[in-house]
Amino acid sequence: MTQHAVAIAGGGPTGLMLAGELALAGVDCVIVEKRESQDLVGSRALGLHARTIEVLDQRGIADRFLAEGYTAQVAGFAGVRLDISDFPTRHPYGLALVQKQTERILADWVDELGVPILRGRVVTGFAQDENGVDVTLEGGDVLRADYLVGCDGGRSRVRKSAGIDFPGWDPTISHLIAQVEMTEEPQWGFHNDATGKHAISRLTEDGPIGVMVTESRLGGTDEPTLGDLSAALIGIYGTDFGVHGPTAISRFTDMSRQAETYRRGRVLLAGDAAHIHYPVGGHGLNLGMQDAVNLGWKLAQVTQGIAPESLLDSYEAERHPVAARVLEETMAAAALSRTDARSGALRALVAELLGRDEARTYLAGRISELDIRYDLGAGHPLLGRRMPDLDLVTADGPTRTFALLHKARPLLLDFAAPARLDIAPWADRVQFIDADYAGAWVLPVIGAVPAPSAVLVRPDGHVAWVGDGNDAGLADALTTWFGPPAAPQD
Ligand SMILES: Cc1cc2nc3c(=O)[nH]c(=O)nc-3n(C[C@H](O)[C@H](O)[C@H](O)COP(=O)(O)OP(=O)(O)OC[C@H]3O[C@@H](n4cnc5c(N)ncnc54)[C@H](O)[C@@H]3O)c2cc1C
Repeated sequence: MTQHAVAIAGGGPTGLMLAGELALAGVDCVIVEKRESQDLVGSRALGLHARTIEVLDQRGIADRFLAEGYTAQVAGFAGVRLDISDFPTRHPYGLALVQKQTERILADWVDELGVPILRGRVVTGFAQDENGVDVTLEGGDVLRADYLVGCDGGRSRVRKSAGIDFPGWDPTISHLIAQVEMTEEPQWGFHNDATGKHAISRLTEDGPIGVMVTESRLGGTDEPTLGDLSAALIGIYGTDFGVHGPTAISRFTDMSRQAETYRRGRVLLAGDAAHIHYPVGGHGLNLGMQDAVNLGWKLAQVTQGIAPESLLDSYEAERHPVAARVLEETMAAAALSRTDARSGALRALVAELLGRDEARTYLAGRISELDIRYDLGAGHPLLGRRMPDLDLVTADGPTRTFALLHKARPLLLDFAAPARLDIAPWADRVQFIDADYAGAWVLPVIGAVPAPSAVLVRPDGHVAWVGDGNDAGLADALTTWFGPPAAPQD
Protein backbone atom coordinates (compact mmCIF):
# COMPACT_ATOMS: atom_id res chain seq x y z
CA MET A 1 0.00 0.00 0.00
CA THR A 2 1.36 3.44 -0.95
CA GLN A 3 1.86 5.72 2.05
CA HIS A 4 1.94 9.53 2.18
CA ALA A 5 1.73 12.11 4.94
CA VAL A 6 -1.19 13.84 3.22
CA ALA A 7 -3.55 12.68 0.47
CA ILE A 8 -5.46 15.42 -1.34
CA ALA A 9 -8.68 14.47 -3.11
CA GLY A 10 -9.09 16.82 -6.06
CA GLY A 11 -6.56 18.80 -8.07
CA GLY A 12 -8.58 21.94 -8.77
CA PRO A 13 -7.26 25.32 -7.60
CA THR A 14 -7.67 24.46 -3.90
CA GLY A 15 -6.00 21.05 -4.05
CA LEU A 16 -3.13 22.38 -6.17
CA MET A 17 -2.49 25.33 -3.85
CA LEU A 18 -2.56 23.05 -0.82
CA ALA A 19 -0.12 20.65 -2.45
CA GLY A 20 2.25 23.54 -3.17
CA GLU A 21 2.10 24.73 0.43
CA LEU A 22 2.74 21.25 1.82
CA ALA A 23 5.60 20.61 -0.61
CA LEU A 24 7.28 23.91 0.36
CA ALA A 25 7.18 22.73 3.98
CA GLY A 26 8.78 19.43 2.96
CA VAL A 27 5.67 17.29 3.46
CA ASP A 28 5.18 14.19 1.32
CA CYS A 29 1.76 14.56 -0.31
CA VAL A 30 -0.14 13.23 -3.29
CA ILE A 31 -3.09 14.57 -5.29
CA VAL A 32 -5.77 12.19 -6.57
CA GLU A 33 -7.59 13.85 -9.48
CA LYS A 34 -10.55 12.53 -11.41
CA ARG A 35 -9.77 14.44 -14.62
CA GLU A 36 -7.29 12.90 -17.05
CA SER A 37 -5.58 16.27 -17.58
CA GLN A 38 -5.70 19.78 -16.11
CA ASP A 39 -7.90 20.89 -19.04
CA LEU A 40 -11.13 22.51 -17.96
CA VAL A 41 -14.14 22.49 -20.24
CA GLY A 42 -16.23 25.65 -20.22
CA SER A 43 -15.85 28.81 -18.27
CA ARG A 44 -15.61 29.12 -14.50
CA ALA A 45 -13.65 31.66 -12.45
CA LEU A 46 -12.70 34.74 -14.39
CA GLY A 47 -9.96 36.04 -12.17
CA LEU A 48 -8.23 36.73 -8.89
CA HIS A 49 -8.88 39.31 -6.21
CA ALA A 50 -6.12 41.44 -4.68
CA ARG A 51 -5.52 39.29 -1.60
CA THR A 52 -5.07 36.14 -3.67
CA ILE A 53 -2.52 37.96 -5.84
CA GLU A 54 -0.74 38.98 -2.62
CA VAL A 55 -0.78 35.38 -1.37
CA LEU A 56 0.84 34.26 -4.63
CA ASP A 57 3.36 37.10 -4.26
CA GLN A 58 4.18 35.72 -0.80
CA ARG A 59 5.30 32.55 -2.58
CA GLY A 60 7.19 34.35 -5.35
CA ILE A 61 4.84 33.20 -8.11
CA ALA A 62 2.50 36.18 -8.62
CA ASP A 63 4.44 37.26 -11.73
CA ARG A 64 3.52 34.03 -13.52
CA PHE A 65 -0.17 34.89 -13.16
CA LEU A 66 0.21 38.62 -13.82
CA ALA A 67 2.07 37.85 -17.06
CA GLU A 68 -0.87 35.89 -18.48
CA GLY A 69 -3.84 38.03 -17.48
CA TYR A 70 -4.57 41.71 -17.28
CA THR A 71 -5.13 43.81 -14.20
CA ALA A 72 -8.33 45.81 -13.77
CA GLN A 73 -10.68 47.20 -11.15
CA VAL A 74 -12.87 44.12 -10.79
CA ALA A 75 -14.48 44.56 -7.37
CA GLY A 76 -18.13 45.53 -7.66
CA PHE A 77 -21.46 45.33 -5.90
CA ALA A 78 -25.02 46.24 -6.89
CA GLY A 79 -23.72 47.20 -10.33
CA VAL A 80 -21.23 49.70 -8.87
CA ARG A 81 -17.53 49.31 -9.67
CA LEU A 82 -15.50 49.62 -6.45
CA ASP A 83 -12.11 51.08 -7.27
CA ILE A 84 -9.30 49.94 -4.96
CA SER A 85 -6.46 51.77 -6.70
CA ASP A 86 -5.92 53.85 -3.53
CA PHE A 87 -5.59 50.77 -1.26
CA PRO A 88 -2.18 50.35 0.43
CA THR A 89 -1.01 47.18 -1.34
CA ARG A 90 1.38 46.45 -4.20
CA HIS A 91 -1.58 44.92 -6.02
CA PRO A 92 -4.46 47.44 -5.83
CA TYR A 93 -6.47 45.66 -8.53
CA GLY A 94 -7.88 42.31 -9.56
CA LEU A 95 -6.47 40.07 -12.25
CA ALA A 96 -8.59 38.93 -15.18
CA LEU A 97 -7.44 35.37 -15.84
CA VAL A 98 -9.68 32.43 -16.65
CA GLN A 99 -9.67 29.44 -14.33
CA LYS A 100 -8.21 27.17 -17.00
CA GLN A 101 -5.04 29.30 -17.02
CA THR A 102 -4.93 29.71 -13.25
CA GLU A 103 -5.07 25.93 -12.84
CA ARG A 104 -2.40 25.34 -15.48
CA ILE A 105 0.04 27.77 -13.82
CA LEU A 106 -0.63 26.23 -10.40
CA ALA A 107 -0.19 22.72 -11.81
CA ASP A 108 3.20 23.70 -13.32
CA TRP A 109 4.31 25.07 -9.93
CA VAL A 110 3.19 21.93 -8.12
CA ASP A 111 5.01 19.85 -10.72
CA GLU A 112 8.24 21.83 -10.13
CA LEU A 113 7.84 21.13 -6.42
CA GLY A 114 7.69 17.41 -7.22
CA VAL A 115 4.18 16.57 -6.00
CA PRO A 116 2.78 13.46 -7.70
CA ILE A 117 -0.70 13.79 -9.23
CA LEU A 118 -2.61 10.56 -9.82
CA ARG A 119 -4.69 11.63 -12.82
CA GLY A 120 -7.81 9.87 -13.98
CA ARG A 121 -8.26 8.38 -10.49
CA VAL A 122 -11.37 8.84 -8.34
CA VAL A 123 -11.55 8.81 -4.54
CA THR A 124 -14.58 6.70 -3.61
CA GLY A 125 -14.35 6.73 0.18
CA PHE A 126 -12.09 6.29 3.17
CA ALA A 127 -11.78 4.66 6.57
CA GLN A 128 -9.88 6.39 9.34
CA ASP A 129 -8.32 5.01 12.50
CA GLU A 130 -6.30 6.70 15.20
CA ASN A 131 -3.07 6.56 13.19
CA GLY A 132 -4.18 7.43 9.68
CA VAL A 133 -6.64 7.16 6.83
CA ASP A 134 -7.12 4.46 4.20
CA VAL A 135 -8.27 6.26 1.05
CA THR A 136 -10.11 4.05 -1.42
CA LEU A 137 -9.82 4.70 -5.14
CA GLU A 138 -12.15 3.52 -7.88
CA GLY A 139 -10.89 0.13 -8.99
CA GLY A 140 -10.09 -0.90 -5.42
CA ASP A 141 -6.61 0.55 -4.84
CA VAL A 142 -6.04 1.96 -1.37
CA LEU A 143 -3.69 4.79 -0.35
CA ARG A 144 -2.60 5.20 3.25
CA ALA A 145 -2.10 8.74 4.56
CA ASP A 146 -1.76 10.46 7.92
CA TYR A 147 -4.41 12.97 6.78
CA LEU A 148 -6.88 13.27 3.92
CA VAL A 149 -8.03 16.66 2.64
CA GLY A 150 -11.18 16.83 0.52
CA CYS A 151 -10.59 19.49 -2.14
CA ASP A 152 -13.01 17.65 -4.39
CA GLY A 153 -15.49 20.41 -5.13
CA GLY A 154 -19.09 21.19 -4.24
CA ARG A 155 -20.32 17.61 -4.58
CA SER A 156 -17.42 16.38 -2.44
CA ARG A 157 -17.32 12.63 -2.01
CA VAL A 158 -14.98 13.13 0.96
CA ARG A 159 -17.48 15.41 2.72
CA LYS A 160 -20.32 12.93 2.15
CA SER A 161 -18.23 9.92 3.24
CA ALA A 162 -17.24 11.81 6.40
CA GLY A 163 -20.95 12.35 7.15
CA ILE A 164 -20.43 16.11 7.38
CA ASP A 165 -23.68 18.03 6.92
CA PHE A 166 -23.84 20.77 4.29
CA PRO A 167 -26.61 23.04 5.55
CA GLY A 168 -27.67 26.21 3.80
CA TRP A 169 -30.12 27.61 1.33
CA ASP A 170 -31.68 25.93 -1.69
CA PRO A 171 -31.42 27.71 -5.03
CA THR A 172 -33.92 30.39 -6.04
CA ILE A 173 -32.46 31.13 -9.48
CA SER A 174 -30.57 29.10 -12.08
CA HIS A 175 -28.54 29.98 -15.15
CA LEU A 176 -27.24 28.11 -18.14
CA ILE A 177 -23.74 28.97 -19.29
CA ALA A 178 -22.49 27.59 -22.59
CA GLN A 179 -20.02 27.82 -25.44
CA VAL A 180 -21.78 27.24 -28.75
CA GLU A 181 -22.07 28.06 -32.45
CA MET A 182 -25.08 29.88 -33.96
CA THR A 183 -26.24 29.96 -37.59
CA GLU A 184 -28.01 33.33 -37.18
CA GLU A 185 -26.59 36.59 -35.88
CA PRO A 186 -27.63 36.66 -32.19
CA GLN A 187 -28.60 39.68 -30.13
CA TRP A 188 -25.14 40.52 -28.80
CA GLY A 189 -24.53 41.93 -25.34
CA PHE A 190 -26.56 42.11 -22.14
CA HIS A 191 -30.31 41.78 -22.09
CA ASN A 192 -32.56 42.10 -19.00
CA ASP A 193 -36.18 41.03 -18.80
CA ALA A 194 -38.65 39.89 -16.15
CA THR A 195 -36.88 36.51 -15.92
CA GLY A 196 -33.49 38.02 -15.18
CA LYS A 197 -30.19 38.84 -16.84
CA HIS A 198 -28.89 37.27 -20.04
CA ALA A 199 -25.78 37.81 -22.17
CA ILE A 200 -24.39 36.65 -25.50
CA SER A 201 -20.84 37.46 -26.57
CA ARG A 202 -18.04 36.23 -28.83
CA LEU A 203 -15.39 34.74 -26.50
CA THR A 204 -12.51 35.39 -28.92
CA GLU A 205 -12.47 36.96 -32.36
CA ASP A 206 -13.20 33.76 -34.26
CA GLY A 207 -13.83 31.46 -31.31
CA PRO A 208 -17.09 30.06 -29.96
CA ILE A 209 -20.02 32.17 -28.76
CA GLY A 210 -20.48 32.48 -25.01
CA VAL A 211 -24.06 32.41 -23.73
CA MET A 212 -25.37 32.99 -20.22
CA VAL A 213 -29.11 32.92 -19.66
CA THR A 214 -31.40 32.96 -16.64
CA GLU A 215 -33.86 30.08 -16.69
CA SER A 216 -37.54 30.91 -16.35
CA ARG A 217 -37.97 28.00 -13.96
CA LEU A 218 -35.39 26.58 -11.59
CA GLY A 219 -33.33 24.01 -13.50
CA GLY A 220 -32.91 20.51 -12.14
CA THR A 221 -29.73 18.83 -10.97
CA ASP A 222 -29.30 16.84 -14.24
CA GLU A 223 -26.62 17.95 -16.70
CA PRO A 224 -28.31 20.50 -19.01
CA THR A 225 -28.67 19.71 -22.72
CA LEU A 226 -28.63 21.68 -25.97
CA GLY A 227 -32.43 21.30 -25.94
CA ASP A 228 -32.61 23.08 -22.55
CA LEU A 229 -30.47 25.92 -23.89
CA SER A 230 -32.50 26.20 -27.09
CA ALA A 231 -35.78 26.34 -25.12
CA ALA A 232 -34.37 29.01 -22.80
CA LEU A 233 -33.18 31.15 -25.74
CA ILE A 234 -36.58 30.89 -27.47
CA GLY A 235 -38.31 31.90 -24.21
CA ILE A 236 -36.12 35.00 -23.92
CA TYR A 237 -35.38 36.10 -27.51
CA GLY A 238 -38.18 34.37 -29.44
CA THR A 239 -35.54 32.34 -31.34
CA ASP A 240 -32.57 30.14 -30.50
CA PHE A 241 -30.49 31.78 -33.29
CA GLY A 242 -29.81 28.31 -34.71
CA VAL A 243 -27.78 27.28 -31.69
CA HIS A 244 -25.66 24.15 -32.26
CA GLY A 245 -22.24 22.60 -31.73
CA PRO A 246 -21.89 23.15 -27.97
CA THR A 247 -18.41 22.60 -26.53
CA ALA A 248 -19.69 23.20 -23.00
CA ILE A 249 -23.07 23.61 -21.30
CA SER A 250 -23.47 23.81 -17.55
CA ARG A 251 -25.84 25.19 -14.98
CA PHE A 252 -25.11 27.29 -11.92
CA THR A 253 -27.42 28.55 -9.20
CA ASP A 254 -27.47 30.70 -6.09
CA MET A 255 -27.51 27.65 -3.81
CA SER A 256 -25.51 28.59 -0.72
CA ARG A 257 -24.20 25.94 1.64
CA GLN A 258 -21.40 25.56 4.12
CA ALA A 259 -20.01 22.44 5.79
CA GLU A 260 -21.06 22.25 9.45
CA THR A 261 -17.45 21.44 10.29
CA TYR A 262 -14.22 21.56 8.28
CA ARG A 263 -12.63 18.63 10.09
CA ARG A 264 -13.62 15.20 11.22
CA GLY A 265 -10.63 13.52 12.87
CA ARG A 266 -7.94 13.09 10.22
CA VAL A 267 -10.15 14.30 7.39
CA LEU A 268 -10.42 17.97 6.43
CA LEU A 269 -12.33 19.95 3.81
CA ALA A 270 -11.24 22.99 1.80
CA GLY A 271 -12.54 25.06 -1.10
CA ASP A 272 -15.88 24.29 -2.73
CA ALA A 273 -16.01 21.03 -0.75
CA ALA A 274 -16.51 23.24 2.32
CA HIS A 275 -18.64 26.06 0.87
CA ILE A 276 -20.63 26.88 -2.25
CA HIS A 277 -22.45 30.06 -3.25
CA TYR A 278 -23.61 32.17 -6.18
CA PRO A 279 -20.57 33.07 -8.34
CA VAL A 280 -21.45 36.79 -8.36
CA GLY A 281 -18.52 38.77 -6.97
CA GLY A 282 -16.03 36.10 -8.07
CA HIS A 283 -15.06 34.59 -4.73
CA GLY A 284 -15.12 30.78 -4.89
CA LEU A 285 -11.70 30.08 -6.32
CA ASN A 286 -10.14 32.88 -4.26
CA LEU A 287 -11.66 31.52 -1.06
CA GLY A 288 -10.47 28.00 -1.84
CA MET A 289 -6.89 29.06 -2.56
CA GLN A 290 -6.81 31.06 0.66
CA ASP A 291 -8.28 28.12 2.64
CA ALA A 292 -5.36 26.08 1.32
CA VAL A 293 -2.81 28.68 2.39
CA ASN A 294 -4.33 28.82 5.88
CA LEU A 295 -4.36 25.03 6.24
CA GLY A 296 -1.09 24.09 4.52
CA TRP A 297 1.48 25.21 7.09
CA LYS A 298 -0.65 24.02 10.01
CA LEU A 299 -1.07 20.56 8.54
CA ALA A 300 2.64 20.49 7.70
CA GLN A 301 3.63 21.22 11.30
CA VAL A 302 1.20 18.63 12.67
CA THR A 303 2.34 15.85 10.32
CA GLN A 304 5.97 16.70 11.12
CA GLY A 305 5.29 16.50 14.88
CA ILE A 306 6.26 20.16 15.39
CA ALA A 307 2.84 21.30 16.65
CA PRO A 308 0.02 19.41 18.37
CA GLU A 309 -3.02 18.26 16.41
CA SER A 310 -5.10 20.95 18.14
CA LEU A 311 -3.46 23.51 15.81
CA LEU A 312 -5.77 22.17 13.10
CA ASP A 313 -8.79 23.48 15.02
CA SER A 314 -7.65 27.01 14.24
CA TYR A 315 -8.19 26.27 10.52
CA GLU A 316 -11.95 25.98 10.93
CA ALA A 317 -12.06 28.73 13.57
CA GLU A 318 -10.42 31.14 11.13
CA ARG A 319 -11.74 30.10 7.73
CA HIS A 320 -15.37 29.17 8.52
CA PRO A 321 -16.31 32.78 9.40
CA VAL A 322 -14.59 34.08 6.25
CA ALA A 323 -16.68 31.83 4.00
CA ALA A 324 -19.85 32.51 6.03
CA ARG A 325 -19.33 36.20 5.34
CA VAL A 326 -18.93 35.53 1.61
CA LEU A 327 -22.14 33.48 1.59
CA GLU A 328 -23.94 36.39 3.21
CA GLU A 329 -22.48 38.86 0.71
CA THR A 330 -23.33 36.75 -2.34
CA MET A 331 -26.88 36.15 -1.11
CA ALA A 332 -27.29 39.90 -0.76
CA ALA A 333 -25.82 40.40 -4.25
CA ALA A 334 -28.18 37.75 -5.68
CA ALA A 335 -31.17 39.52 -4.12
CA LEU A 336 -30.01 42.82 -5.59
CA SER A 337 -29.53 41.35 -9.07
CA ARG A 338 -33.24 40.59 -9.54
CA THR A 339 -34.81 42.58 -12.34
CA ASP A 340 -38.14 43.50 -10.71
CA ALA A 341 -38.92 47.14 -9.86
CA ARG A 342 -38.58 46.76 -6.09
CA SER A 343 -35.16 45.12 -6.34
CA GLY A 344 -34.20 47.87 -8.80
CA ALA A 345 -35.18 50.52 -6.25
CA LEU A 346 -33.13 48.81 -3.55
CA ARG A 347 -30.17 48.51 -5.92
CA ALA A 348 -30.35 52.24 -6.70
CA LEU A 349 -30.33 53.06 -2.99
CA VAL A 350 -27.36 50.76 -2.29
CA ALA A 351 -25.54 52.24 -5.30
CA GLU A 352 -26.09 55.72 -3.87
CA LEU A 353 -24.66 54.61 -0.51
CA LEU A 354 -21.64 53.10 -2.25
CA GLY A 355 -20.93 56.54 -3.69
CA ARG A 356 -19.83 57.49 -0.15
CA ASP A 357 -16.19 56.79 0.41
CA GLU A 358 -16.58 55.01 3.74
CA ALA A 359 -19.06 52.54 2.25
CA ARG A 360 -16.90 52.04 -0.86
CA THR A 361 -13.80 51.36 1.26
CA TYR A 362 -15.62 48.98 3.59
CA LEU A 363 -17.15 46.85 0.85
CA ALA A 364 -14.10 46.98 -1.41
CA GLY A 365 -12.04 45.72 1.55
CA ARG A 366 -14.40 42.76 1.84
CA ILE A 367 -14.56 41.95 -1.84
CA SER A 368 -10.81 42.29 -2.44
CA GLU A 369 -10.36 40.13 0.71
CA LEU A 370 -7.69 42.56 1.93
CA ASP A 371 -9.63 43.23 5.14
CA ILE A 372 -9.60 39.66 6.47
CA ARG A 373 -8.84 39.52 10.18
CA TYR A 374 -8.57 36.27 12.07
CA ASP A 375 -9.75 36.61 15.66
CA LEU A 376 -6.51 36.24 17.63
CA GLY A 377 -7.82 38.31 20.52
CA ALA A 378 -7.65 41.97 21.39
CA GLY A 379 -4.55 44.05 20.78
CA HIS A 380 -2.78 46.02 18.08
CA PRO A 381 -4.84 46.40 14.86
CA LEU A 382 -2.25 44.30 12.99
CA LEU A 383 -3.00 41.23 15.10
CA GLY A 384 -4.69 38.58 12.92
CA ARG A 385 -4.54 40.79 9.83
CA ARG A 386 -2.34 40.41 6.77
CA MET A 387 1.21 41.67 7.13
CA PRO A 388 1.83 44.54 4.70
CA ASP A 389 4.53 44.00 2.08
CA LEU A 390 7.01 46.52 3.50
CA ASP A 391 10.31 47.63 1.97
CA LEU A 392 12.84 46.52 4.58
CA VAL A 393 16.56 46.89 5.09
CA THR A 394 18.25 43.87 6.66
CA ALA A 395 21.84 42.73 7.24
CA ASP A 396 21.59 41.02 3.82
CA GLY A 397 20.50 44.23 2.11
CA PRO A 398 17.12 45.61 1.01
CA THR A 399 14.21 43.22 0.72
CA ARG A 400 10.47 43.18 1.25
CA THR A 401 8.29 41.25 3.66
CA PHE A 402 6.71 39.00 1.04
CA ALA A 403 10.15 37.93 -0.26
CA LEU A 404 10.91 36.63 3.23
CA LEU A 405 7.80 34.41 3.03
CA HIS A 406 8.65 32.70 -0.27
CA LYS A 407 9.64 29.47 1.47
CA ALA A 408 6.48 29.53 3.63
CA ARG A 409 8.49 29.74 6.86
CA PRO A 410 7.37 31.84 9.84
CA LEU A 411 9.12 35.09 10.46
CA LEU A 412 9.94 37.34 13.41
CA LEU A 413 10.80 40.87 12.32
CA ASP A 414 12.56 42.86 15.07
CA PHE A 415 12.54 46.58 14.27
CA ALA A 416 14.35 47.69 17.45
CA ALA A 417 17.88 49.04 16.97
CA PRO A 418 19.77 47.01 17.99
CA ALA A 419 17.46 43.97 17.83
CA ARG A 420 16.38 42.94 21.30
CA LEU A 421 14.35 39.75 21.03
CA ASP A 422 15.65 36.24 21.57
CA ILE A 423 13.83 33.29 20.02
CA ALA A 424 16.65 30.73 20.26
CA PRO A 425 14.32 27.84 21.32
CA TRP A 426 12.34 28.30 18.06
CA ALA A 427 15.31 29.18 15.82
CA ASP A 428 14.99 25.83 14.01
CA ARG A 429 11.48 26.85 12.81
CA VAL A 430 11.18 30.61 12.82
CA GLN A 431 13.31 33.04 10.82
CA PHE A 432 14.65 35.90 12.92
CA ILE A 433 15.26 39.10 10.95
CA ASP A 434 16.73 42.28 12.40
CA ALA A 435 15.04 44.79 10.10
CA ASP A 436 14.82 48.53 9.55
CA TYR A 437 11.68 50.09 8.21
CA ALA A 438 11.31 53.84 7.90
CA GLY A 439 7.86 54.19 6.32
CA ALA A 440 4.32 54.44 7.62
CA TRP A 441 2.16 51.51 8.68
CA VAL A 442 -1.08 51.67 6.74
CA LEU A 443 -3.68 48.92 6.43
CA PRO A 444 -6.48 48.61 3.87
CA VAL A 445 -9.81 49.92 5.25
CA ILE A 446 -8.26 50.63 8.70
CA GLY A 447 -5.75 53.31 7.64
CA ALA A 448 -2.64 54.28 9.62
CA VAL A 449 -1.77 52.17 12.68
CA PRO A 450 0.97 52.67 15.32
CA ALA A 451 4.40 51.30 14.33
CA PRO A 452 5.14 48.07 16.23
CA SER A 453 8.59 47.25 17.66
CA ALA A 454 8.38 43.70 16.25
CA VAL A 455 5.94 41.39 14.48
CA LEU A 456 5.62 37.62 14.33
CA VAL A 457 4.29 36.62 10.90
CA ARG A 458 2.80 33.22 10.13
CA PRO A 459 3.60 31.48 6.83
CA ASP A 460 0.18 32.53 5.49
CA GLY A 461 1.19 36.17 5.97
CA HIS A 462 -1.08 36.87 8.97
CA VAL A 463 0.34 38.57 12.04
CA ALA A 464 0.43 36.31 15.11
CA TRP A 465 2.00 38.69 17.62
CA VAL A 466 2.82 42.40 17.76
CA GLY A 467 5.65 43.81 19.92
CA ASP A 468 5.24 46.96 21.96
CA GLY A 469 8.86 47.53 22.98
CA ASN A 470 9.21 44.26 24.91
CA ASP A 471 8.64 40.52 24.48
CA ALA A 472 5.42 40.21 26.51
CA GLY A 473 3.35 37.34 25.09
CA LEU A 474 5.93 36.36 22.47
CA ALA A 475 6.82 32.94 23.92
CA ASP A 476 3.10 32.08 24.20
CA ALA A 477 2.46 33.11 20.59
CA LEU A 478 5.47 31.11 19.35
CA THR A 479 4.27 28.04 21.27
CA THR A 480 0.67 28.41 20.08
CA TRP A 481 1.56 28.69 16.41
CA PHE A 482 4.92 26.96 16.03
CA GLY A 483 5.00 24.35 18.76
CA PRO A 484 6.79 24.08 22.11
CA PRO A 485 10.35 25.41 22.53
CA ALA A 486 13.21 23.06 21.61
CA ALA A 487 15.12 21.66 24.57
CA PRO A 488 18.42 23.53 25.14
CA GLN A 489 21.47 21.86 23.52
CA ASP A 490 24.35 20.89 25.84
C1 LIG B 1 -20.07 30.00 -13.82
C2 LIG B 1 -19.08 30.11 -12.70
C3 LIG B 1 -18.34 31.28 -12.57
C4 LIG B 1 -17.42 31.40 -11.55
N1 LIG B 1 -16.69 32.54 -11.44
C5 LIG B 1 -15.80 32.68 -10.45
C6 LIG B 1 -14.96 33.84 -10.36
O1 LIG B 1 -15.03 34.74 -11.18
N2 LIG B 1 -14.07 33.91 -9.34
C7 LIG B 1 -13.93 32.90 -8.42
O2 LIG B 1 -13.10 33.03 -7.51
N3 LIG B 1 -14.68 31.79 -8.49
C8 LIG B 1 -15.60 31.65 -9.48
N4 LIG B 1 -16.33 30.50 -9.57
C9 LIG B 1 -16.15 29.45 -8.57
C10 LIG B 1 -14.91 28.60 -8.83
O3 LIG B 1 -14.98 28.03 -10.12
C11 LIG B 1 -14.83 27.51 -7.76
O4 LIG B 1 -15.05 28.08 -6.50
C12 LIG B 1 -13.46 26.82 -7.75
O5 LIG B 1 -13.28 26.04 -8.91
C13 LIG B 1 -13.31 25.93 -6.52
O6 LIG B 1 -12.08 25.26 -6.58
P1 LIG B 1 -11.91 23.86 -5.84
O7 LIG B 1 -10.53 23.41 -6.18
O8 LIG B 1 -12.29 24.00 -4.42
O9 LIG B 1 -13.00 22.92 -6.50
P2 LIG B 1 -13.11 22.45 -8.02
O10 LIG B 1 -12.60 23.48 -8.94
O11 LIG B 1 -14.49 21.95 -8.20
O12 LIG B 1 -12.09 21.25 -8.11
C14 LIG B 1 -12.39 19.99 -7.55
C15 LIG B 1 -11.50 18.98 -8.25
O13 LIG B 1 -11.73 17.71 -7.66
C16 LIG B 1 -11.88 16.73 -8.67
N5 LIG B 1 -12.70 15.67 -8.08
C17 LIG B 1 -14.02 15.72 -7.76
N6 LIG B 1 -14.41 14.59 -7.17
C18 LIG B 1 -13.31 13.80 -7.11
C19 LIG B 1 -13.09 12.50 -6.58
N7 LIG B 1 -14.06 11.81 -5.98
N8 LIG B 1 -11.84 11.97 -6.70
C20 LIG B 1 -10.84 12.69 -7.29
N9 LIG B 1 -11.01 13.92 -7.79
C21 LIG B 1 -12.23 14.48 -7.69
C22 LIG B 1 -12.51 17.46 -9.82
O14 LIG B 1 -12.25 16.83 -11.05
C23 LIG B 1 -11.85 18.83 -9.72
O15 LIG B 1 -10.66 18.91 -10.45
C24 LIG B 1 -17.24 30.34 -10.61
C25 LIG B 1 -17.99 29.17 -10.75
C26 LIG B 1 -18.91 29.06 -11.78
C27 LIG B 1 -19.70 27.79 -11.89
